[in-house]
Amino acid sequence: MDMNPNQFLEQAVIALDDIQLQTALERGTGNADSRRRAAMAELADPDAIRWQGRAARLRGLDDLPDLLEQAERQIIARGGKVLWAADADEANRHVLNICREHNLRRGVKSKSMATEEIGLLPFLNQHGIEMVETDLGEYIVQLSGSHPSHIIMPVMHMTKEQIRDLFMEKLAMPYTDDPTGMTAWARKTLREEYLRADFGISGGNFIIAETGSVVIVTNEGNGRLCTTVPPVHIAVVGIEKVIPTWEDFATLLQLLCRSGTGQRMSVYVNAFNGPAMPGEPDGPEHFYLILLDNGRSDIYASEYAEALACIRCGACLNICPVYRSVGGHAYGATYTGPIGAVITPLLKGKANAAPLPFASSLCGACQEACPVGINLPGMLLKLRRDLQAAQDPLWQMGMKAFGFGMSHPLLYNVGSRLAGAALQSLGEDAGSDMVSSLPYPLSGWTDHRDFPVFPAERFRDWWQKNRR
Ligand code: SF4
Repeated sequence: MDMNPNQFLEQAVIALDDIQLQTALERGTGNADSRRRAAMAELADPDAIRWQGRAARLRGLDDLPDLLEQAERQIIARGGKVLWAADADEANRHVLNICREHNLRRGVKSKSMATEEIGLLPFLNQHGIEMVETDLGEYIVQLSGSHPSHIIMPVMHMTKEQIRDLFMEKLAMPYTDDPTGMTAWARKTLREEYLRADFGISGGNFIIAETGSVVIVTNEGNGRLCTTVPPVHIAVVGIEKVIPTWEDFATLLQLLCRSGTGQRMSVYVNAFNGPAMPGEPDGPEHFYLILLDNGRSDIYASEYAEALACIRCGACLNICPVYRSVGGHAYGATYTGPIGAVITPLLKGKANAAPLPFASSLCGACQEACPVGINLPGMLLKLRRDLQAAQDPLWQMGMKAFGFGMSHPLLYNVGSRLAGAALQSLGEDAGSDMVSSLPYPLSGWTDHRDFPVFPAERFRDWWQKNRR
């Protein structure tokens, strides 16, 4: 499956016609958003905790370089190794070198967007290292040869029936429509993989600087198995994930669980500080933390730094009218929805993801849902400004003319009267108060929905008559 953000429009049109995808999205996003609202409403003062969480993330970003060094010192003191990766290639090569050093041939992986971002699994496969995803959603994605379509629910794009058919084909599962039975079948298959694995790979939801702990928050227990059963554990984590203290973590954990899955608390919260210490019966013999930059330093130094405060809860995806209509694959990128529309152009280069900042109605629902209050609509607007030069010249001219007209009252008056008269005439011809076909370039609107005829009397005229 191709991943190209610049094909957003083409992919969105395909997605809108896909009945199964539409069914899956309606169920998936609707349920997730209701659960989030209910879980947040249980808090005595949801806004207070959101602001507390935001403050924790911004404090972490303010001191980012110092906190990363503090975490590094702590991990080294506990016998772990820390490797810095400037980009995807360096991160992948670090993992490969570790595999070669310890003669690792087969690995298991828990859910991680950072490894998805750098294309780690295809890279390792190319070098003869076999990897198995162990998060159920990611495992389904791997079996189907696809990509995750949601930060938290990687198979948001699939219906239960599609997953059943996939398991029957790839895992020889006997027919069942029961989700518990399907999960049990996958779990039985995966259980063997942990025992056969030479190493485990994880991401990290947070790095806590004061103790140098990498924390993962999961619901399936696969993360714990991946990181403790095999003799080598490699964690690949973005540099922005560092936070100062466990106290900050206590706040952010509540927000992540409630906003991500609508739970008061995830089933598993695991923290790793390094390899197993002498006398400890469990844990890996070797622990590596790869700190991934891959464009984050550039974002940090820009006016978009706030985007790095994201805790990857997925709430903005579930509420976004665009994501809810087209799903994640249309974005052609690892990070989708409103946060993806902001960070994909920043990570990949704006020209390589030019349509994404425009994939928003700017309704503001994403910022309202965001547990750390990231100003996503504001950043989408700034990206649109930055991308103006890449726009169709005709569009640019049109917008300039529109802006000029809107800022000159006489032109606005004449223009709005002419537009009203033209729409009324089109409506009369169609015998309706909705116009279903407008000439180019306005046809972009009526290709997908009707346009309402303006009332015969303009609001300004009514106001002057009645409220003078
Ligand atoms: S931007 Fe906010 S709502 Fe969206 S994934 Fe990040 S933290 Fe969650």
